Amino acid sequence: MENYKELVEQIKSFLSQYEKVRYGEMVGAPWPYDHAGPLVYEEPEAVLLDYASTSITELLARAVAAEAALEREKSYDTPLPPFDDDDPGVLYCQKCGSGEYLENDDGNRNEYCGQCGQRIDWAAYDAAIEALGGAGVG
Ligand SMILES: [Zn+2]
Repeated sequence: MENYKELVEQIKSFLSQYEKVRYGEMVGAPWPYDHAGPLVYEEPEAVLLDYASTSITELLARAVAAEAALEREKSYDTPLPPFDDDDPGVLYCQKCGSGEYLENDDGNRNEYCGQCGQRIDWAAYDAAIEALGGAGVG
């Protein structure tokens, strides 16, 4: 990823030798149009390089977002035990705090929190309850 950032920097640095003009000025827009408009490059190679730089930057942003999403997904896949609160008979998800979706009405345990998708570590929960010598709520 750093290579692409470096490439974009080099392209931008190279582009700094080209001057930008107002679009209206470049096309020589006649009356009633003025010579305003966004700043654009006149030389085809500068236009192409600017386009490449913009495209690479957009791709980089997408790659960063995709990697972040993957990391988030991974973090949800690392099992976390639920926790008890003062509310008797209710277990809560460590990730989102929901006490609604860890177990079904029939008492079956869900592998994942129905609210946020966090994988639930029931074995760790059961082991903790057993170590405390008590019966869990689950
Ligand atoms: Zn959750």
